[in-house]
Amino acid sequence: MAGIEYQNTKRCHMYITTPIYYPNDKPHLGHAYTTILADIIHRWFSLLGYNTYFLTGTDEHGAKLQREAERRGINPKEFVDQMSEIFKEYWKLLGIGYSRFIRTTDYDHEEVVRYVVSKLWEKGYIYSGKYRGWYCTACEKFYSEGEYITENDTPICSIHRRPLEYIEEDTYFLKLSLFKDYILKLLREGSIIYPKHFSDEVTSKIEIEGLQDLSIARPKTRVSWGIELPFDNKYVVYVWIDALLNYLTGLGYPKNMDRVEQYWRNSIQLIGKDILWFHTAIWFTLLAMLDLPPPKKLLVHSYLTVKGQKMGKSLGNVVSIDDMVKRYGNPEVVRFIIARIANYDKDVEVSWDIYDSIYTGDLLNNYGNLVRRATMLAIKTLNGSVVHDLDEEFARVIDKLKEQAIDLYNNLEVSSAVKYALDILHETNAYINRKEPWKSSTPNQTIYTVLEAIRIASLLLYPVMPVTVSGILHSMGLDEVEQGLQQFKLGYIHMYNVRISPIPFKKL
Ligand SMILES: [Zn+2]
Repeated sequence: MAGIEYQNTKRCHMYITTPIYYPNDKPHLGHAYTTILADIIHRWFSLLGYNTYFLTGTDEHGAKLQREAERRGINPKEFVDQMSEIFKEYWKLLGIGYSRFIRTTDYDHEEVVRYVVSKLWEKGYIYSGKYRGWYCTACEKFYSEGEYITENDTPICSIHRRPLEYIEEDTYFLKLSLFKDYILKLLREGSIIYPKHFSDEVTSKIEIEGLQDLSIARPKTRVSWGIELPFDNKYVVYVWIDALLNYLTGLGYPKNMDRVEQYWRNSIQLIGKDILWFHTAIWFTLLAMLDLPPPKKLLVHSYLTVKGQKMGKSLGNVVSIDDMVKRYGNPEVVRFIIARIANYDKDVEVSWDIYDSIYTGDLLNNYGNLVRRATMLAIKTLNGSVVHDLDEEFARVIDKLKEQAIDLYNNLEVSSAVKYALDILHETNAYINRKEPWKSSTPNQTIYTVLEAIRIASLLLYPVMPVTVSGILHSMGLDEVEQGLQQFKLGYIHMYNVRISPIPFKKL
């Protein structure tokens, strides 16, 4: 994947989005996975000085939420009001620094949806017709043959493992088929979707099945909870069309086209692989119908699995965010663990054993231990005052690892970037052991170099654990994290005034 330039970044705009989530229950680690990755990417580019805008939110319309509200005996709006607050609380707990939390029931969003659907109608991209097919209300999606599995002659949703409903109804279709060649061309160019094999996946699906027109309206008799179709009030807009347009609402479309232009050309959209089709074939077509280009990057990640099955509410195998926060006593540890296990290509099997070994190995024994040792040494041997004196030879080792980490971050490879930051810490622990500064009468150079290495690794970990890292830097006498790449230079700090020797991570 081509690197994203990071020179003169102060004037660069960047737009980062997560999918908006169905708030039918509180968020679990699967939701946190995408959201934490997006936040880390957003914080990385803000650290470099980009003008970032980070959008997340909740997808609040549709039959599924309508039913869940009915089950609880409240109206859908009351229900989503409650649930979106719960999402916000969890994102606050996990330090998600979104710029806006968008809700599809927000007035400006409903206006955008009506505007877009009217515009597509005027442009002749929408026509009326009849739909027949198998539908999963949990996916809010019609399944074509071959897409569902059959058990005892009953078509079953492969994701939710529940029977599909056969539905036949009058509806309106969007002419996706007109854009088949355009979409194939985008996908074959291969620069938007990362990792690229997801691009190939969609390409072969279209090559085999074609690109069918999409039913974009639901009769109110079946689904009343939605945005009314502007040209036929017996229908509401299909939730996926409603949901996808949130990315435009977030930028002020269509009123503020300058802002849309500024951010959209440098947009990074994160999704899980289950919603790849919607975010490529459908989303890129919608954008093209509005004369807008596709996003710059669509970053797709695979699933977190528990005993081989995707984590999800309907499977009842979710790991609760609360349990993880409670176990490690610091919500930022959840962010770190996610960053470590993140994998775009392959599903990741998770368990408490894996979380615990990451916590103990990386945070407690590597990072925490090094911080404790170095600050203690600085205080004991130098009274906390460590002057500029860099061991150039060791600095070159650190420099190489640092450059790798920066490149990886710029290429959105969060997990690998974090591994390089941890390598810096490993090397530095070994360096102290070799140098034995506690035996030396002139320990300043070693201690200064160690503090510099800790500082560089900490800056690299700052997007992952901003509060914890700030605390560590503070103990070393550094109170402010700057913006820009200049601070990543080894030897940048003139003098350290180490104040305390913290224990940033506690034993389990
Ligand atoms: Zn389903």
